[in-house]
Amino acid sequence: MRERLRRALEGWAAAPGPAAFLTACRELRSVLLPADCVVCGQPDESLCPGCALAVRHATLRPFNASAGAAMLPHAENRNGTVSGSGFPGTAPEEEMPLSVIAAGRYGGGLSRVLLACKNHGHTDLTGILAEAMARALHEAKRSAQVPGQLAVVPVPGSFHSRTRRGYDPLQLILAKVGHRGLLPVDTGIARVLGYRPGAGAAGLVAAGRRAQKELGAGARRRNVHGTMTAGPPGTLLGMRVLVADDVLTTGATLAEAVRALRAAGAEVVSAAVIAAVRAPAPGAEFTGGIRSVPACGTGGGSTPNEQRPRSEGE
Ligand SMILES: [Zn+2]
Repeated sequence: MRERLRRALEGWAAAPGPAAFLTACRELRSVLLPADCVVCGQPDESLCPGCALAVRHATLRPFNASAGAAMLPHAENRNGTVSGSGFPGTAPEEEMPLSVIAAGRYGGGLSRVLLACKNHGHTDLTGILAEAMARALHEAKRSAQVPGQLAVVPVPGSFHSRTRRGYDPLQLILAKVGHRGLLPVDTGIARVLGYRPGAGAAGLVAAGRRAQKELGAGARRRNVHGTMTAGPPGTLLGMRVLVADDVLTTGATLAEAVRALRAAGAEVVSAAVIAAVRAPAPGAEFTGGIRSVPACGTGGGSTPNEQRPRSEGE
């Protein structure tokens, strides 16, 4: 490791330039902050080049993951009403779930990177997750086919999880998407959604401190219902929204976010997540993935971690 730092510094001295400087910085960081790849455990970097490539590959083809999430809300018609309701000849079974575009399937390296970023302080991995998020946002915007401005509204981290982690991973990831100029055209991040005061604590008490993923479908819905707010009715009238979250499991958390946004008057047209837990339905694959999102640097930190879906509602 130190030998590589020496070589990198010599290389920088011999041919000063941004690339050599960045190489030297990366080697210096690996000496000061030794890390293992969160996916394969290989030393020196928190995500080795091989695993970074695999994670990138797993998020190149965003797909519609709605079919795998039973608790998603219904899509909204352009005139602001929920699909299937109030329309002559439209039976309830024809109601379409809200479109949720996932960059990749939850599993393998992608889930390990997400968990490392969310639960093990690996904020240095936000770059590769921002790329994946950007791909999902682009496809969600494209498939929504709505004119004009779209507000990208992140699902907030609860007070409890922010306190425990000291940061909100999704906010960091979306901030990186914005800073790198990877947001789709005519979109901007709008942090209009929050938890009602005390809602996070109430939800936890209701769940008996069990994680959302361990609850049954009905309990999941009750656990999150009414916990979020986007302001009084009419506050967001005229705002078209693309909701962003990190992982789609049953859709209970997204459903609550959408409920709060619609209650405030917003029109929710689509949602985008980095990873979806369930496999997409046959034929749901998207074939025109955005492949031009630039690569990002990784590295630093430590602690490999277990593979486990996230606790929805956290
Ligand atoms: Zn690796």
